[in-house]
Amino acid sequence: MSTEMVCPTMSVLLSRAVGLGSRVRAHALPGGYRCYASTSRYKAVIFDMGGVLLPSPYHKAAEWERQNKIPPGTTAQVIRTSSDKSAWKRFMCGEIGAKEFAEAFSKECADVAARPVPGDSFLSALTTGPMAQPNPAMMEAVQCIRAEGLKTAILSNNFFLPDGSTYLPLDRSLFDVIVESCLEGVCKPDPRIYHLCTERLGVTPQEAVFLDDIGSNAKAAAQLGMSAIKVVDPESAVKELEEMLGFPLTGFVKGTRAVRKAMQLPMENLTRYIQKVLHLPATESVTVRQFSHGQSNPTYLLTCGDRRVVLRKKPPGSLLPSAHAVEREFRVLKALGNGGVAVPKVITLCEDASVLGTPFYLMEYCPGRVFLDPSLPDLSPEERGKVYEAMTHALCQIHSVDITAAGLEDYGKPGREIWRKLLNHLFIDPLWTTDRCLHTFCSNSLPFSSVPGDYVARQVHRWTKQYRASETHRIPAMERLIEWFPQHLPKNQRTTVVHGDFRLDNLVFHKDKPEVISVLDWELSTLGDPLCDLASSCMAHFLPPDFPILRGISQSDLTQMGIPTAEMIFNQYSRFMGLEPIDNWQLYMAFSFFRVAAILQGVYQRSLKGQASSASASTAGQLAEQMAVLGWDFATKEGFRIFNTQHRGPLNTPTPSRSVSSWASWQQRRSVSTHSIIAHTAPQGILVVSPEGLPPRVQELRHLLLRFMEERILPVDQQLREHQVSSVRWTTHTLMEELKEEAKAQGLWNLFIPVETDPDSKYGAGLTNVEYAHLCELMGHSVFAPEIFNCSAPDTGNMEVLIRYGTKQQQEEWLYPLLDGTIRSCFAMTEPKVASSDATNIEASITEEKDSYILNGHKWWTSGALDPRCKLCIFMGKTDPLAPRHKQQSMILVPMDTPGVTVVRPLTVYGVQDPPGGHAELLFENVRVPRNNVLLGPGRGFEIAQGRLGPGRIHHCMRLVGHAERALKLMKERVKSRVAFGKPLAEQGTVLAGIAQSRIEIEQARLLVLKAAHLMDTVGNKVAAPEISMIKAVCPTMALTVIDRAIQAFGAAGLSNDHPLALFYTWARALRVADGPDEVHQAAVAKMELRRQL
Ligand SMILES: Cc1cc2nc3c(=O)[nH]c(=O)nc-3n(C[C@H](O)[C@H](O)[C@H](O)COP(=O)(O)OP(=O)(O)OC[C@H]3O[C@@H](n4cnc5c(N)ncnc54)[C@H](O)[C@@H]3O)c2cc1C
Repeated sequence: MSTEMVCPTMSVLLSRAVGLGSRVRAHALPGGYRCYASTSRYKAVIFDMGGVLLPSPYHKAAEWERQNKIPPGTTAQVIRTSSDKSAWKRFMCGEIGAKEFAEAFSKECADVAARPVPGDSFLSALTTGPMAQPNPAMMEAVQCIRAEGLKTAILSNNFFLPDGSTYLPLDRSLFDVIVESCLEGVCKPDPRIYHLCTERLGVTPQEAVFLDDIGSNAKAAAQLGMSAIKVVDPESAVKELEEMLGFPLTGFVKGTRAVRKAMQLPMENLTRYIQKVLHLPATESVTVRQFSHGQSNPTYLLTCGDRRVVLRKKPPGSLLPSAHAVEREFRVLKALGNGGVAVPKVITLCEDASVLGTPFYLMEYCPGRVFLDPSLPDLSPEERGKVYEAMTHALCQIHSVDITAAGLEDYGKPGREIWRKLLNHLFIDPLWTTDRCLHTFCSNSLPFSSVPGDYVARQVHRWTKQYRASETHRIPAMERLIEWFPQHLPKNQRTTVVHGDFRLDNLVFHKDKPEVISVLDWELSTLGDPLCDLASSCMAHFLPPDFPILRGISQSDLTQMGIPTAEMIFNQYSRFMGLEPIDNWQLYMAFSFFRVAAILQGVYQRSLKGQASSASASTAGQLAEQMAVLGWDFATKEGFRIFNTQHRGPLNTPTPSRSVSSWASWQQRRSVSTHSIIAHTAPQGILVVSPEGLPPRVQELRHLLLRFMEERILPVDQQLREHQVSSVRWTTHTLMEELKEEAKAQGLWNLFIPVETDPDSKYGAGLTNVEYAHLCELMGHSVFAPEIFNCSAPDTGNMEVLIRYGTKQQQEEWLYPLLDGTIRSCFAMTEPKVASSDATNIEASITEEKDSYILNGHKWWTSGALDPRCKLCIFMGKTDPLAPRHKQQSMILVPMDTPGVTVVRPLTVYGVQDPPGGHAELLFENVRVPRNNVLLGPGRGFEIAQGRLGPGRIHHCMRLVGHAERALKLMKERVKSRVAFGKPLAEQGTVLAGIAQSRIEIEQARLLVLKAAHLMDTVGNKVAAPEISMIKAVCPTMALTVIDRAIQAFGAAGLSNDHPLALFYTWARALRVADGPDEVHQAAVAKMELRRQL
């Protein structure tokens, strides 16, 4: 969406994100100026369409009657006296289409008029020409309402056009909710449709105003508690609405709103000043609106006759002399404007405090387009590419300014200024911007010095210090970055004017052409390394679209959208500037995220001290960690790049460039072609092959886990195995729950959730797959351990699915109890009647019925379903058997106690029932679940399965390595103490060979598992698919062989339940089939291998 010229900043987005839109009431002030206090109770305004937003159909009907010589009032009579069976009513309720309506309506009118009536032309008269032209006063009112943060809706008795669409010739984006009777099957004045509308708006009837031209409709709204306006004449209705809401509904300019009370200006002084400066007659009045952002330096749009100018001033209140230096802004704008940079033309700087109380400056208003959404949804791919190119051009223009010629050699700025601006971006509470707070907050920042060439070093130093001063807890990614930056500072930095906050939404584009006509918001400008500007302009590339402070495009397919990747933007920039390609661009990205993380941490610390009241402030802590993780992600990639550069021999081919994403990057990575990746492009880098190489935090965790295994689990392993074959085996052993609590208390809980899925470690320990591999292997030393650490299948896969794809409601209901370990879950995909190694064979059905889905299917091998704690089943079935092969399946959440879910029997693996979870055969007979239980959406089941199975498989493999390692350990102990034929078994040659071979095979398999984990961490699960298939084909057999040798060394005891070997063997064997049989994985590897370039 674009808007006309505004000066949007992060704070606009933030205020929207945290719902800070204020309700206001007008007070008349001298000079015709009004200011507004937030007192209104209204949160939404609901508009009828015909007769309110569009011309009245009744007037048109009268005209049509005249033209067709039909007795006046015929149509009105037919419509008004319509019963439930009448054509009009059925048409409005969507029961009949346009053709059927025309026929039936003609007949009804003919009965009243006692002559033939051409009903078909009636509909076209109502929907074409001026009838489809929105009322300008109403539409302006709608925009003013939205600018004040209220919601808007259409509630219309509407109908289908002959082409099957509904009649709605309005800009839908101006309404939060649209309720059309023909789609809902119910018409006004039926109360249900009003309730539907307020529910969707999320307001109570008392919080809504309703406008309708039909008295009975308005009356019905009033009876429900809404404030209703019966619209006779739209202009008067707008005035009435204005009185009710308490703010003006005229004079709308995009990006502006009514002036807030605290921000009012002394209008008499200002008017006199403007008249003088702009040489206007003394009779010319000045009207003012405020730009919606303006949190830092308030910015106003002044309209004086035809002339529009922008006023930017210091905020009210006592300020440090250097704070809010609008004088600096004026200076840089003037200098850059003279130097040919596209900036708003400044008119004058007024430092005379007698005019407004603080200095201010005036500049020309630049009408044009501002793109608030970096995905540029309204543009074509080609246009998008050009817009981004123009953005880079504009930046090059700034960075090419000759500092000396522009008189800006001494254009440095104190650190506190940068602080203030950035804080204001991220923080709404005006208290925050007082200089007292700022002073305390900034007391640790370094004084600014403009030594050319060390800009990044100084910045890193400053933000590190600042971060330390506001540290509330340890953010591992920040620690890593702080350690990393000093060793990787860029060499040969250039010094240019830098904008300091260069982003797409700070640019005004020509109204038709992809051309930047003005770069706004120079408050952070200074002299420094221009690449910092370039990096900050690319931050949106790595943030998700719903990111609270800056809308991002990380989840978009940039190539398809025509938007250049960050790397391409850097290349484009170097081309335009005539520079060598910038190879260390990821360092600058790391710095950008590091800086924002440090700022957010500051905001968070203030919120903890209670000095920050904004709702956003307390979430700043989470955001700080997320930013730090993103920063570290880039630092790691920069590390790989340096590593590759240093280690690339003459024969090595360079790693092909690839667009790098980090946030929620699994989605993007999914789109990377597997074929191209396995063609020798897997990135190199540091793969931690032994626990000693793990970061200290992970080593600590591993040490804790190892101790827990040795001291708490392995000693009771035998007891737990015995419970499994006892008469109470279908109950949970009390020890299990006790050990779970202990593990949780020690932080050995949910370790499986990869940092990629959970970047801010909200749910898990924030481990990479490689890090987890080293820990998960230890869990494999006991078949009971994974559950004790809440890391067991199928819960792990199910939790990851819910984290990735669950709605908030689904997460609250199911994910949190699972994460807490208070419930368990199962996954029902496999069916007895079809070969389920090919999931497209699934026959279970999921059919839609009103607000529900009805499930029918016969499943088996549903692991965990028999556990008394199992409350949830993720069921896979077909929603649309006619859709393309991989779009037929859906996954849906089924509470286990839903009627129609029956356990047929527990299955056995080699006679083992694996209680208490077991592996169940289940029947699903007409199982009804709510529609919103579907995961991700209908037809997305296969997609989820792919995401679910990758991590699940590698976890199995990690545990299998653990099984094998423990088997070998037991074998070694056994053969040292067991004597046969006069000497310990360990001295028998065949036994020695078996031990050696086992060690070799374990090491081989482990290395491959770690490689797969490393690829999952660095290039994503999809790209790592070949390696995941390889390990899934290797590990069960490897484990089987090693365990088999151990069993053999134990003799008959090895086969018994007295040792863990028999169970290890059973599960290793099952895993040659479960989660895809060996052959399926071999087939996948072979297929990809054959595609591979020689
Ligand atoms: C202990 C255990 C727990 C399980 N838990 C679950 C669970 O919780 N949820 C769930 O939904 N399922 C579960 N399963 C089921 C498991 O995922 C399936 O058994 C597996 O996917 C194979 O499907 P299938 O049994 O229908 O074998 P089929 O598809 O009938 O395959 C039979 C055999 O055909 C061969 N074959 C198949 N494809 C190929 C090929 N392309 N090339 C060559 N040969 C091929 C293989 O040898 C394979 O073993 C579990 C299974 C076990 C043993």
